[in-house]
Amino acid sequence: MINFFKFIFIFIVYCNQAYSNELVNLRFGSNEEKKRIVLDLLEDVTFNHKIHGKKIEIDFKEKIKITKSFQIKNYLDSIDYNDKSNRLILNFKQSIFSTNVYLLKKKKNLHSRIVIDYSLKDKKKKTIIIDPGHGGKDSGAVGLYKNLEKNITLKVGLLLKEKFKKNTNYKVILTRDKDYFLTLRNRTKIAKKNNADIFISLHADYNKISKTRGISLYTLSEKASDKEAAALARRENRSDLIDGVDLSNQTSEVTSILLDLTKRDTLNQSSLLVNFLIKAFKNEMNLLQRTHRYAGFAVLKSLDIPSVLIEMGYLSNKYDSKLLMTDDYQKKLAEKIVKAVINYFNWKDQNNS
Ligand SMILES: [Zn+2]
Repeated sequence: MINFFKFIFIFIVYCNQAYSNELVNLRFGSNEEKKRIVLDLLEDVTFNHKIHGKKIEIDFKEKIKITKSFQIKNYLDSIDYNDKSNRLILNFKQSIFSTNVYLLKKKKNLHSRIVIDYSLKDKKKKTIIIDPGHGGKDSGAVGLYKNLEKNITLKVGLLLKEKFKKNTNYKVILTRDKDYFLTLRNRTKIAKKNNADIFISLHADYNKISKTRGISLYTLSEKASDKEAAALARRENRSDLIDGVDLSNQTSEVTSILLDLTKRDTLNQSSLLVNFLIKAFKNEMNLLQRTHRYAGFAVLKSLDIPSVLIEMGYLSNKYDSKLLMTDDYQKKLAEKIVKAVINYFNWKDQNNS
């Protein structure tokens, strides 16, 4: 383990000036979320600091004496002190985020402390999983014009990825970017593995009643009690049967109140996202009555990732089917989804939820 530690010597240009303060210790602490570095000083200090990328610069109002060498740990790469400018520079191995640098004043018998808290994860950067439904041997619904659901979902998915690229606050990961088969379980696994903030599954619906048209949005319900929703859930979940795994009967093992609370919060967040989607769609696109529906889709079953399934229209309806094939409509759908997602995250930031 010795490789992980490094000893850094901070050389000081000899100076006649008397030091009134001294850096006596460097301490490190961390948990999964937050990393911490503490600088122990003999006396309280006044300083300014700047953070950029992988670097923190601390400008002291006075000279700081440093005679010891300190063990450098965690994500810190080096520490340099310039005795002429009184600047201490901390270089990190990677970019740091949510950084907070503050002084804890000296109390009885204790040192004065400069605390540096930081995180390695950019909280502002949101990870969005876009899941183009079906793919490969599973074509999904076949439209009136022989258009395949799997191709429409992929096209809108790729458009979404492209549109989000313009905004550096978002990272979009597609569960599939080509025409191949992917189990439902693997789709949610991708979301989990990438620490997704939200999951959006794209689909196009089919109904025996050909006049039925419009967009509908699904979030998870414990019981897909709604008859229509249950039928649809069976249809969508069947794609996993192709690989011999039926996820539709998988019961969630919600064993503790904590898990239940997480799930409840996730469902609330999913509903919030649905509201923003409806708002974005409503004036310019056709919405199915009772647009927000509840079903037991396997892809919506992530316990801690707000998930929404968008049925972008009915391939069994001649108007919807035609629209879903056009570039214009696909672009419009993507634009509205982007708008809704951005509004959702802005709302969350403002309301600290
Ligand atoms: Zn589908």
